[in-house]
Amino acid sequence: MASDVCSHVKVVIRVRPINDREKGENCRNVVQVVDNHMLVFDPKEQDISCFGTQRLRNRNVNKRANKDLKFVFDHVFDENSTQDDIFQSTTKGILDGVMNGFNCTVFAYGATGAGKTHTMLGSQNNPGVMYRTMKELFKRMDDAKEEKEFAVAFSYLEVYNEQIRDLLANVGPLAVRDDGTKGVVVQGLTLHQPKTAEQILEALDSGNRNRTQHPTDMNATSSRSHAVFQIYLRQQDKIASLNPNACVAKMSLIDLAGSERASATNTKGARMREGANINRSLLALGNVINALADPKSRKAHIPYRDSKLTRILKDSLGGNCRTVMIANVGPSSKSYDDTHNTLKYANRAKEIKSSLKSNVVSLDSHIGQYAVICEKQRQEILQL
Ligand code: ADP
Ligand code: MG
Repeated sequence: MASDVCSHVKVVIRVRPINDREKGENCRNVVQVVDNHMLVFDPKEQDISCFGTQRLRNRNVNKRANKDLKFVFDHVFDENSTQDDIFQSTTKGILDGVMNGFNCTVFAYGATGAGKTHTMLGSQNNPGVMYRTMKELFKRMDDAKEEKEFAVAFSYLEVYNEQIRDLLANVGPLAVRDDGTKGVVVQGLTLHQPKTAEQILEALDSGNRNRTQHPTDMNATSSRSHAVFQIYLRQQDKIASLNPNACVAKMSLIDLAGSERASATNTKGARMREGANINRSLLALGNVINALADPKSRKAHIPYRDSKLTRILKDSLGGNCRTVMIANVGPSSKSYDDTHNTLKYANRAKEIKSSLKSNVVSLDSHIGQYAVICEKQRQEILQL
């Protein structure tokens, strides 16, 4: 397994469970999780358990060959993964970076209905990455309270149609300014100082009710905005002679808007424009990550200014910042194109890491090793 020590983007995939609608419509399973690092998209019919009937399987076989594409990521979580599993292998690790003064970013990418909000926010009974990260942050601050003094503040904003709104104060649009000394500043954005992680969960919950949502064909309450939750941690040694300087780190946890193409949601007019803007931000985000990763272009122009989302994240992507992408996918043929597109986008972000690392060869041999395993499994299944 390629370690992410030298990498800038860690990419994990989360496959959500099949839902009742997909079960009811006899959809076919198009994602086969091989193990913690590998999945096969649109596997050959023999390899998979179909949700549908024998008749549907046969018809499909006659129609076209399956893509049977293998993908390897830092981690692949199947439909049985828990919120805690995701937290343990994504944000928990990057908290070390935050405690050491580095900016860190975690974003959930994927089409509407793929599980982004479930992963990032979750529910009161089963909270997601945002709450679990804050809980852990409070624990770490408590553990270190004899040596250090901490101050925490957070903000929650959305980017909708290239406009920024404060989700906690419910105001906008707000302007973004790149201040030479302070970095990126969203003017008028409210900062809140929580005493406990629970207070943050409540604030996120009420902020989320202010998020811009519109029904589309895919999901009755589809999130059409990018929701950006940011935590600012200031710390200083209590014995000032040790290190008199305060250190400030920013962690951004982002629930991106659905990545589906506008046409897939059957939209026209305003909704269509909205779709174009969402894809513009996601495209810009991909371009920034790609540019940062390319050793040749790293010192050259990084296209942060191409979208509001990338402007806000200018000091939170690249450099010494650590980034985790959680790509969410649905398991069924109903979201065939979306799942395929998400895997391709995530795969491009992952390749960044291999180009940055010196051990590119090890990634290739890793894929080779998994190809052998996959083939073996296929043979075993065929013999059943
Ligand atoms: P998105 O934010 O990507 O549009 P949601 O997070 O709202 O998608 O998920 C769509 C639906 O699927 C929600 O009802 C959610 O509770 C459910 N869901 C998503 N992922 C999971 C999961 N891993 N386990 C259980 N339910 C999930
Ligand atoms: Mg959502």
